Amino acid sequence: MAKSYLYYLVGAFGDPIAENPTRVMFEAAFRKLKLQWMYLNINVRGGDLRDAVKGLRAMNFSGINLTIPHKVQVLKYLDSVSKDAALMGAVNTVRRDGVKLIGENTDGKGFITALTGDAGVDPKDRHVVLLGAGGAARAISVELALAGSKEIIVVNRTEKRGRELTALLNKKTPASAAYEKWDNTFRVPDGTDILVNATSIGLFPDVEARPDIDYESLVKYMTVCDVIPNPPRTPFLNEAEKRGAQTIDGLGMLVYQAAIAFKMWTGEEAPVEEMKRAINAEFGL
Ligand code: NDP
Repeated sequence: MAKSYLYYLVGAFGDPIAENPTRVMFEAAFRKLKLQWMYLNINVRGGDLRDAVKGLRAMNFSGINLTIPHKVQVLKYLDSVSKDAALMGAVNTVRRDGVKLIGENTDGKGFITALTGDAGVDPKDRHVVLLGAGGAARAISVELALAGSKEIIVVNRTEKRGRELTALLNKKTPASAAYEKWDNTFRVPDGTDILVNATSIGLFPDVEARPDIDYESLVKYMTVCDVIPNPPRTPFLNEAEKRGAQTIDGLGMLVYQAAIAFKMWTGEEAPVEEMKRAINAEFGL
């Protein structure tokens, strides 16, 4: 049979996009499974997103990831959106179903995979405290609520954002949510099962920073999670570990959200260990 020089195309739209390392995981996975696929980082400015999505259709892309500033804007250019992505109001992965472009959000699902698969924690009936109310917090809290978490306390510096997220959770999911303003050192309430840092505090290069909480309020029965993928061991997680809590870092979430998109696009199980190795090497770990 004649050799085909045609590649299946996927990638990411963002601005900025140059330093996004996700392609390293996908390219490692394509190599491992010998798939003739290619992942491209594509710099698309805000005002060009509509044309860029038209371009996806015209060039027969198999899917695309969306990152800043496109996750919300892209919804209006798609043919349909999954239930959870519609609830979050944000799409990080577009997949193709025939000629249709379907919006999905794999960020929260990646978090749930790390929580249940790696740490063996079932979110059902749990009491959750979530630091932050941005994109990552929305994705994580919606998936936790859909997975049966009972109570979610959203702690956020900006009141408007915090209240919008609690209103969404109360209205559209079975969980009961409450907002706490974060203007002082926050004491994690007794009875909290899962604590999540979903802020950008601690992200490289600001690696000494940690959320302003009373670390004495952390106890060993809690599961403490961070979304920060780089560095994976943050001062926040170190403090939790010192007090005996089980900890989950943001690198697992990063790998699993990509692995879920990989399966949606290619139909193949993602070679997760290979993807972990590739991203660890990229971060010098
Ligand atoms: P957003 O900008 O949407 O949200 C940032 C959140 O952090 C807001 O709630 C913001 O509060 C809060 N915040 C930032 N700085 C401070 C501070 N100094 N004090 C208190 N609150 C603060 O970002 P995203 O939600 O998209 O991303 C957040 C983090 O999640 C990033 O570091 C990103 O790398 C990580 N992430 C990790 C993923 C993974 O797979 N591991 C996937 C997606 C994201 P306010 O509303 O008051 O501004």
